[in-house]
Amino acid sequence: MRGKILKGIAGFYYVHVVESGVYECKAKGIFRKEKIKPLVGDDVEIEILNGQEKTGNIETVYPRCNELVRPAVANIDQALVVFAITRPSPHFNLLDRFLVMMQSKDIPVILCFNKEDIATDPQVKELKEIYARCGCPLLFTSARSGQNLDQLREVLKGRTTAIAGPSGVGKSSIINILQPEANMETGAISSKIERGKHTTRHTELFPVGDDAYIMDTPGFSSLYVNDFDKEKLKQYFPEFAPFEGTCRFHGCDHIHEPGCGVKEALERGLIHKVRYKSYMEMYEELKNKRRY
Ligand code: GDP
Ligand code: ZN
Repeated sequence: MRGKILKGIAGFYYVHVVESGVYECKAKGIFRKEKIKPLVGDDVEIEILNGQEKTGNIETVYPRCNELVRPAVANIDQALVVFAITRPSPHFNLLDRFLVMMQSKDIPVILCFNKEDIATDPQVKELKEIYARCGCPLLFTSARSGQNLDQLREVLKGRTTAIAGPSGVGKSSIINILQPEANMETGAISSKIERGKHTTRHTELFPVGDDAYIMDTPGFSSLYVNDFDKEKLKQYFPEFAPFEGTCRFHGCDHIHEPGCGVKEALERGLIHKVRYKSYMEMYEELKNKRRY
């Protein structure tokens, strides 16, 4: 049977089979055979050892689409970057770091602004202006009122999504609502996320219906933008692209160069100043890093 590894604890892998639930599996022989250590997110073939007790053995690990090191996880299709519209209001530099980091790893991002129920129209409007041309689809949700959660379900369908963002923005609330078990009566809710109650947090996938999985990614909150050169940074700000052709210098970094088309667009309000500010700050950081 084919399944997906949800988590791995102490030599056991918990493999979700869409038709029949979760199996506790070992990975006997697989390392010797394939020289591969199974990861959370792996699509695997399992042999059922005991159907009653739901135990099995992982026989094959299917080829991975991608593989992250920290957290160690495979086959992430996309990231849902969650910030609150208000309470707490977004830390833009941090948000833009998330976007840059995901893009640098070729992970498509959906940007989700939560707590729509307590936001004002001007707050929503400002976020739409800042992120209109960032290259990611935007969602404005409320885990409390249920606003636009249908749109969220739609983008999660058939994919494995890493959910990332600072604490307090509603990530656990969203994950809990999305899990079908969470809507059932007590007893079935043991798989719900209980943040803060456990000191050790494992990387774990949660099935959310329609062949969709989400992963809570605590490891994604410590962010360093440092594994590429500063000259590459601008490609992660897609709203710069239409103006780069008008820069006087080829390879302009849009910082201090004269005749810069991007800075001109900034002055004319065609590039949002919040985004440019993040760009500048990250650029400086990358520049300083290289001195060491
Ligand atoms: P996490 O740290 O990102 O996982 O955030 P939580 O899900 O724990 O939520 C943090 C706080 O925000 C809790 O008090 C939630 O009840 C509250 N919260 C979460 N989503 C919403 C929302 O859509 N609207 C409002 N008003 N509060 C929310
Ligand atoms: Zn320029």
